[in-house]
Amino acid sequence: MQDTYHFHEIFSILRQTMNNIQMPLVSRKKWDNIQKTPFTVLISCLLSLRTKEKITEQASLRLLKEYDTPEKIIQLSESTIQHYIYPVGFYKTKAKRIKDIAQTLIIDHGGKVPNDFQELLSLKGVGRKTANIVMVYGFHNAGYLPIDTHCHRIPNRLGWIRTKTPEETEKKLLSILPKQYHQDFNHLFVQFGQTICTPISPHCSICPLTNHCQRIAVGTHR
Ligand code: SF4
Repeated sequence: MQDTYHFHEIFSILRQTMNNIQMPLVSRKKWDNIQKTPFTVLISCLLSLRTKEKITEQASLRLLKEYDTPEKIIQLSESTIQHYIYPVGFYKTKAKRIKDIAQTLIIDHGGKVPNDFQELLSLKGVGRKTANIVMVYGFHNAGYLPIDTHCHRIPNRLGWIRTKTPEETEKKLLSILPKQYHQDFNHLFVQFGQTICTPISPHCSICPLTNHCQRIAVGTHR
């Protein structure tokens, strides 16, 4: 199949360039001190919403090092969960959500995270991005693309798609991006968006993708 969008080259460049940049915790293959399972990926992803990566990592470690299953989580009171996860954003709401989700998993799913996108979405507090993260990084399924602000912005700048919302981006990208790139898409674009193709004033002068980028709607750049 003809690679109109130069996916092969772009992904090769990004893999090389982002090699030295730390990946977000949920996308790392191996975790230190926490067992990586669909459940721990789900909880860590919930902790990461509106929270800096470093804080997420520390909170995940404090909570999940010991309490890494729904059965263990429900032993904890909400205030103990709050204590473990503070200072993540909305830690009180998240503590409640984490306990509710653990309870629901035990009652409705035999204590297991469902390997099913719609069932994940039915868990209270789980949106499309989190469900996609669990499908990709918890279960290693192709056919799912977690879209955050970087994953929405950069494909539009490159000229791959013209979309207005992350939902539209997810749908469009799923129709053009071959499955072999699904597993790496989210973390490569997040790393790239945090370091080079930044939201405001992207670093186009040092960007390794300049030859492949249409720079759609890019104003001030460096
Ligand atoms: S050339 Fe500029 S806008 Fe295009 S991907 Fe690189 S940093 Fe982003």
